[in-house]
Amino acid sequence: MNTAPGSMNTAPRPLLDRFGRVHTDLRVSLTDRCNLRCTYCMPAEGLDWLPRAQTLDDDEVVRLVRIAVGRLGIASVRLTGGEPLLRRGLPDLVGRIAALGPEVSLTTNGIGLARTAVALRAAGLERVNVSLDTLRPERFARITRRDRIEDVFAGLAAARAAGLGPVKVNAVPVRGVNEDEIPELAAFAVEHGYRMRFIESMPLDAQGAWDRSAMVTAAEVLERLGERFDLVPVGRRGNAPAEEWRVAGTDAVIGVIASVTRPFCGGCDRVRLTADGQLRNCLFATEESDLRALLRGGADDDRIEAAWRASVAGKGPGHAVNSADFVRPDRPMSAIGG
Ligand code: SAM
Ligand code: SF4
Repeated sequence: MNTAPGSMNTAPRPLLDRFGRVHTDLRVSLTDRCNLRCTYCMPAEGLDWLPRAQTLDDDEVVRLVRIAVGRLGIASVRLTGGEPLLRRGLPDLVGRIAALGPEVSLTTNGIGLARTAVALRAAGLERVNVSLDTLRPERFARITRRDRIEDVFAGLAAARAAGLGPVKVNAVPVRGVNEDEIPELAAFAVEHGYRMRFIESMPLDAQGAWDRSAMVTAAEVLERLGERFDLVPVGRRGNAPAEEWRVAGTDAVIGVIASVTRPFCGGCDRVRLTADGQLRNCLFATEESDLRALLRGGADDDRIEAAWRASVAGKGPGHAVNSADFVRPDRPMSAIGG
């Protein structure tokens, strides 16, 4: 890793916080824009998107990833958004990031993936997570406010065919909306060789409408899955947020990400970069470090590295979603990078 182009010829020094957590995973949001309007994420009219001049360009993203990999020991980079496939020239950017050495993955709503999967794989993308909350076209149109489910199915199939596997399918179950489909979604994934993951909804929607009583908990997901499948616990691998279960007698694995009811902050190894170059040490952080200002102000790599380390050093022990003092971050999930 330390021989990545542009890095110093010394081993990276781990990116440590004061609780001893080593940070090796970087989430990079490539845009805050999206072509869907998922009801648990943003309002029908969309948001005030970042002006293009405020968004990091490819050279700026690559420089920050080079510092992250070469100096800070970042080993995996997940590209997200908003919808990262909306970023122009994405295969080229993926190629430049992959050339620096980290494992590169992508979280997407799958629209446009059918067209780009082969180019992305060729550029060095290793895996994709595709969001899909329902298998029913009308329900998909209600949840996402767009009639695009066939594009997502095509994107999933193309990703698998291109070797972007294991393809993970992310669903956010919401009470009264799609929680009755939990077993069907899992069966669909098992049948197609995808890895299903259910994510507890979090108070990170742009409208501030999150309601704990509408969140389907990990315990409920497991209860519903238990009606259809015989599940054997696999546990949690390393610092991965998903707790996993194997469907007995098969290779199929189903995961549950219980960010709210079973937080996994103690093992967190993630740091996040927004599309406008703000570093966040937590999804729920209320403060950011302005790396874009450093980049555009002519800071050298030492200075950017120091700002990065200072941000991670200031990371708290965990989020406070379950406490009375919880303060929502200023930005929604789509602008932070989910
Ligand atoms: N547009 C891409 C997508 O949907 O996969 C990437 C960005 S999206 C913000 C990343 C993930 O966050 C998706 O799996 C989405 O379902 C999830 N997400 C969005 N809003 C959420 C919320 N309020 N609570 C939990 N997960 C959420
Ligand atoms: Fe777009 Fe992803 Fe948010 Fe849905 S969850 S509106 S696809 S950013």
